[in-house]
Amino acid sequence: APTSCAVLPVVGSDTLVPLVDGRSVPYANLDVAASAPALQVVADRVNEVLPLYASVHRGAGYLSQVSTALYEAARQTIGAFVGAREDDVTIVTRNTTDSLNLLAGCVPAQADGTPGRVLVLDVEHHANLLPWQRTGGATVLVGGATVAETLSGLRAELSRFPYALVAITGASNVTGESLPLAEVVAAAHDAGARVLLDGAQLVPHRGVSLAASDVDYVAFSGHKTYAPFGAGALVGRRDWLDAGTPYLAGGGAVRNVTLDGTTWQSAPARHEAGSPNVIGAVALASACDALAALEPGLLVAHETELRARLVEGLEEIDGVRVVRAWADAVDPVGVVTFSVDGHDAGLVASYLSAEHGIGVRDGRFCAHPLLARLGLPAGAVRASIGVGTTGEEIERLLSALRAWASEGSKARYEVVDGCWVV
Ligand code: PMP
Repeated sequence: APTSCAVLPVVGSDTLVPLVDGRSVPYANLDVAASAPALQVVADRVNEVLPLYASVHRGAGYLSQVSTALYEAARQTIGAFVGAREDDVTIVTRNTTDSLNLLAGCVPAQADGTPGRVLVLDVEHHANLLPWQRTGGATVLVGGATVAETLSGLRAELSRFPYALVAITGASNVTGESLPLAEVVAAAHDAGARVLLDGAQLVPHRGVSLAASDVDYVAFSGHKTYAPFGAGALVGRRDWLDAGTPYLAGGGAVRNVTLDGTTWQSAPARHEAGSPNVIGAVALASACDALAALEPGLLVAHETELRARLVEGLEEIDGVRVVRAWADAVDPVGVVTFSVDGHDAGLVASYLSAEHGIGVRDGRFCAHPLLARLGLPAGAVRASIGVGTTGEEIERLLSALRAWASEGSKARYEVVDGCWVV
């Protein structure tokens, strides 16, 4: 049954954590949207290639050749995992933030030399907001109460100015919700704009196909896709990436350097100056392989069932409210944010950790504009679900919150010098 056990084994799932009462319990990691544990197969693959790596692209030695082959094969796998078209480029980055900052340097300027226009919604993670604001081309659209209202606002704005890019989240890191991708792509393309998908929260849960969706660019992070920290990707149309500002200046990104000037490589090398993260890329590729090999629909069924159970359980608890960006969003991924009336989110999260060994996230989730618009300026609590999450962990969270509601656990804590003290 999908809910009773993990879909794929992850490392660390048997970690015991100490509680305030002296007991130790298995850690319930319900914070996988922040960083997901590595798959066991990824850890095995890292151990396998660790003895083999050496300088890539430049060395003539045997291990350099092996490393170069591993790195380029990983690039292929990562691109294929997100359905890259034949002429798309896959750039190995550090994470989604890196990918979006890179693309921000590649959006063509307008004819008068001013920065290319980029349209974003106020629901975005800061990583998909600040890079565009920094170039000076961003317009931030306030989302409507419904998906339909938001889409019509998007279309209206696209008809007002010539936008180069619509940069949109594949799934909100606060609510797990999204706008219907096909409609966003159609609206953007009809208006002559390209689409960048922030896939940080979508790719690990649903997969993405650039070819099938006609999305122009996707960015995502290895550490949210069951690989360790350090590697992410930007995948998409070649022309902007070949012409854009090289992301980092340094070795490997250049064709020739003289004291009078430099000629740069085309993408991907253009944006990958410095010694690349071979192990990170191999790890991410191995996670992509493992996710791609799952029986179709299994992961979605697992996460949808656990999410439904979680939301239903939360809504049954007095004073607990599930946060929604849109009243009519469908098919959210396994990310659920809630508030507990009258209780500080940080306090609730501390209680869950200290008394129940449950890891959740609290705060404003790098999405300050959305939290402010939803009336949660002090933040909320987020639980997230992935391949390793079990139904038992969801029940543990619900019963801990029920105990909180009935016993008033708040009384056992106070704040001293900004820290929660039990
Ligand atoms: N976008 C979304 C939707 C995210 O959830 C995150 C991570 N919380 C990011 C971008 C940034 O990802 P990273 O920290 O891996 O760069």
